[in-house]
Amino acid sequence: LADQSISEDELLADPVEKIMAVGGTGHPAIAAPADLFQPERTNSIGIDLDDAVILQETAAQIARPVQLDKQTTVAPEGAVTKALAAYPAWSNTPLDERADCLERLADLLETHRSRLMAILVQEARKTIPDALSEVREAIDFCRYYAARARTDLCAVELPGPTGERNILRHEGRGVWVAIAPWNFPLAIFLGQVAAALVTGNTVVAKPAPQTPAIGQFAVALAHEAGVPEDVLQIVTGGGDVGAALTADVRIAGVVFTGSVPTAKAIARNLLADDARPLVPLIAETGGLNAMIVDSTALSEQVVRDIIISGFQSAGQRCSALRLLLLQEDIAEHTLEMLRGAMDMLNVGDPADPATDIGPVIDQDSYDKLMAYRAEVKDRIVHAIDVPAQGLFVPPTVIRLDNLDDLNREWFGPLVHVATWKAGELEATVARVNAKGFGLTMGLHSRIAGSSALVENLARVGNLYINRSMIGAVVGSQPFGGEGLSGTGPKAGGPHYLYRFCAERTTSVDT
Ligand code: GLU
Repeated sequence: LADQSISEDELLADPVEKIMAVGGTGHPAIAAPADLFQPERTNSIGIDLDDAVILQETAAQIARPVQLDKQTTVAPEGAVTKALAAYPAWSNTPLDERADCLERLADLLETHRSRLMAILVQEARKTIPDALSEVREAIDFCRYYAARARTDLCAVELPGPTGERNILRHEGRGVWVAIAPWNFPLAIFLGQVAAALVTGNTVVAKPAPQTPAIGQFAVALAHEAGVPEDVLQIVTGGGDVGAALTADVRIAGVVFTGSVPTAKAIARNLLADDARPLVPLIAETGGLNAMIVDSTALSEQVVRDIIISGFQSAGQRCSALRLLLLQEDIAEHTLEMLRGAMDMLNVGDPADPATDIGPVIDQDSYDKLMAYRAEVKDRIVHAIDVPAQGLFVPPTVIRLDNLDDLNREWFGPLVHVATWKAGELEATVARVNAKGFGLTMGLHSRIAGSSALVENLARVGNLYINRSMIGAVVGSQPFGGEGLSGTGPKAGGPHYLYRFCAERTTSVDT
């Protein structure tokens, strides 16, 4: 690839088809059965005309204040005690009944869609399109895990070369602690809970301190769907509550989405007591996600995907674009177009359906992002005006003269940009890998060989070629990363449920 000149054949080749044909890593791709699960609709982007009714209903709901249910707040220790007592009966509840509960929960989420969306707008400051996508994703998680459980968790008969019978079973492990983030306080919260419940575990769930009300509503709906109260409990609070839960030696696993330091603190907690059993930690943390763009990319598509990946949800997604790497030859032209597209963005009240980008989650986040912006003000390539009142961080592009100057995730609408020269694709991917994160990466290129090369080299959980880097669809784009980005299990993927199971083999001499 030192020579970046492109043959016409290469330009015309569809990179994805090429990858499917040869397998970027030398493995042929195998098509998945199509009939297992159909996502509600893409949860990625936007509202279509059919959703006008939902918009009206949501607007009416936004007028109602969000209320916290104080009654559901229990102490961590007591919740674990109850969850432990509830475990034997729940793990012995037939798998189909547990899956039925998730499907009824999905139905209830549909019924209460506009109320859920309104709470997401009010409490998590989501825009209406983001709120709609999130409710859809939560529904998808419930239906997908129910479907997968029914097909995947059956006992399997394994070969018995010496004449014995060997049976492999998938069972619950005990009490799981589920700790969810504020940026997907319904979808990720319920995704964690649904996976743990359907595999036969009982759950103590802790929503983020910024978003307790949506968690409480989701848990109330799960109870209405048939999940017994002690099988799923919610404990609200901050880091001290999370620390108390994960320090409890009786728990059987932790599923966590949040920051790298918190994931590491949980890991240390799980190992702190020499006498406690070894239990799994499923952690999905941050990303320092790069989009690499070469000179064959389609500019309009690139600019659209930068806007979506970097600025939608005010950049408050783990998957969001943080580092834009433009091939030198097209950098000026791309940035020129990007400035124009950014100027058209509508930043404002999240309750207004016309808003593209809302505020960031809280004052603390706002202060940190604005302080960093002030620090790098000489390198701001472009930023747009935002309302003066409120926690609005201007969507901003920041020039990076040296890739080594960016080594952490800024969780907001800030995109850093740097350039690379023809012939440096491989080295560029290596420099991104060297940052140690491994969540998402984007590539915009019409060269099939470049797609295959990046697929081979990128150390990320989700690689997106010629599209945006956010909005992973349940059942189609299993989501989760490696390195500093997490322990690897892919939410919304076909192997996720196994991570919540004890796998037990019985061998019987016949
Ligand atoms: N799954 C989300 C996406 O693909 C991101 C989840 C997160 O931010 O934790 O955009």
